[in-house]
Amino acid sequence: MISEALQQETLNLLKRLIACPSLSGREQGVADILKGYLQENGFSTVEIDRYGDLVAGTKGKRPGVRLLFDGHIDTVPADNAGDWTTPPFEPVLRDGKLYGRGTSDMKGADAAFAVAAAQYLREKGKDFSGELWFAGVVQEECFEGVCAKEVARQVQPDLVVIGEASEGNLKLSQRGRAEIVLETFGVPCHSANPEKGVNAAAAMCALINEILKLPVTKDPRMVGDGILVLTDIKSEPYPGASVVPHYCRATFDRRLLVGETRESVLAPIQAIIDERKRLDPTLQARVSYPMGSAVCATGERVEAERFFAPWWFDTDERVLRVKAAMEERGLAPQITGYSFCTNGSYYAGEAGIPTFGFGPSRENLAHTVDEHIALKDLHDAVDGYLAILHAILD
Ligand SMILES: [Zn+2]
Repeated sequence: MISEALQQETLNLLKRLIACPSLSGREQGVADILKGYLQENGFSTVEIDRYGDLVAGTKGKRPGVRLLFDGHIDTVPADNAGDWTTPPFEPVLRDGKLYGRGTSDMKGADAAFAVAAAQYLREKGKDFSGELWFAGVVQEECFEGVCAKEVARQVQPDLVVIGEASEGNLKLSQRGRAEIVLETFGVPCHSANPEKGVNAAAAMCALINEILKLPVTKDPRMVGDGILVLTDIKSEPYPGASVVPHYCRATFDRRLLVGETRESVLAPIQAIIDERKRLDPTLQARVSYPMGSAVCATGERVEAERFFAPWWFDTDERVLRVKAAMEERGLAPQITGYSFCTNGSYYAGEAGIPTFGFGPSRENLAHTVDEHIALKDLHDAVDGYLAILHAILD
């Protein structure tokens, strides 16, 4: 259990972070609050990079592991503010819980790690090995791992801790995700004589029927299967008044298991298209991953294919050391995996850097009306992060 003074310090910092809205692309206020806090609390390098990520670090006097904590500082919007019991951007303490957008996802973890790091540096000064880095990463809600790549380029971490909600457990794997766009191309004509054209929407229906029958991929080591979910369909022209549509586009969300690649995920869909083309030579269809782009608070543009890799980190001696250090403090972490996507998609999934997750609160509180965090969970997270710091850097 952490001291009352540390509990208060964490709550004060978290309240300031919640009171400062930071939708993706508008994170500079929160980056500045954390920048000030870390500068005052022993970090020697505190910078905001070209995308607006806050990157702060400090070195111990002995060589050792470069440890990076990754916490995104953007949140999803609170469009339905009227449904909230209290205003989403006013931190309100009620029944041992702090309410507000971002409390669980994931400013609670950001505040907890910042305070744990500050406390660690107060206790140790420079008397530790390796380097301690904190990244407050932007744009995670839209592009998992894209700004993390920029952070990794600067820090070159040996070990990454993802602070996303883990209910106090250690998460050693994560499904990836991909958006898959399927397009069909037809020939428009009056719908009174449909045989004169080629109906792109009808062709799409036939393809979707086949695609949704594809077997779901499974890996018993991971949380969740490689599911494929149809998320939208749109034809052109829309609405189609007495016209056979010339174009149709459907989007699928595909969750990814370790071992699945850009090619292996599209291959069975392409095989269905090829088979149907053989039966119907008028069919024209294309499957691809779309590109996404967004403008950062700094004016810089992030752009990426919407494919975010899965990852798996084998339990090693470091994880066991961290687990034991947490247990010594009365915490009881289980070793498990994330079912949702995190910045680990880059660190572990693309760059192969050993990564695990540990953070306060529950996954299912993210993005909700009346999002909140239990103070007990917040305090345990500070304790857990202190355990990690001692286990890795002492
Ligand atoms: Zn998150």
